[in-house]
Amino acid sequence: MDTVAKHKVVTLEYELYNASGELLEKTGDQPLVYIHGIGQLLPALEAAVEGLSTGDTKEVTLTPEEGFGEYREDQVQRIPRSAFGDEMELEPGMTLYARTEAGDTIPFMILEVTDEDVVADFNHPLAGETLTFKLKVLGIRDATPEELAHGHVHGPEGHAH
Ligand SMILES: [Zn+2]
Repeated sequence: MDTVAKHKVVTLEYELYNASGELLEKTGDQPLVYIHGIGQLLPALEAAVEGLSTGDTKEVTLTPEEGFGEYREDQVQRIPRSAFGDEMELEPGMTLYARTEAGDTIPFMILEVTDEDVVADFNHPLAGETLTFKLKVLGIRDATPEELAHGHVHGPEGHAH
């Protein structure tokens, strides 16, 4: 029987809980389909899935460091209100995207809006959280050479092109 190993395409169902047992995310009808061993998942999560067979379930808890990092106060920044233009409606809780000099886009959440400033939080939304994944492996197959070359899954569950 196939087990999860490098370059297998794995279909994974999961529920994600925080430390207080609150459900943060679940795959539901749309399981995650990914190529194992090429860095598509958090390394600690990949390590937990490694070696499982179809039908196996597992519960794994990741520290903030293994997850999305510690919450860092220095990632909360004040940006002049004028940087956003007059047209833009800004409200606490909104997620916006900033472009870095390198051309990457990074999301941030607005915490506060004043006449002069916008307080922006660049921490990952799950930073500082201890995360528990309840996993179930739904399927395992070999990745095709084309999928490996592209670095993503093709077919009904993945990219169509
Ligand atoms: Zn492709």
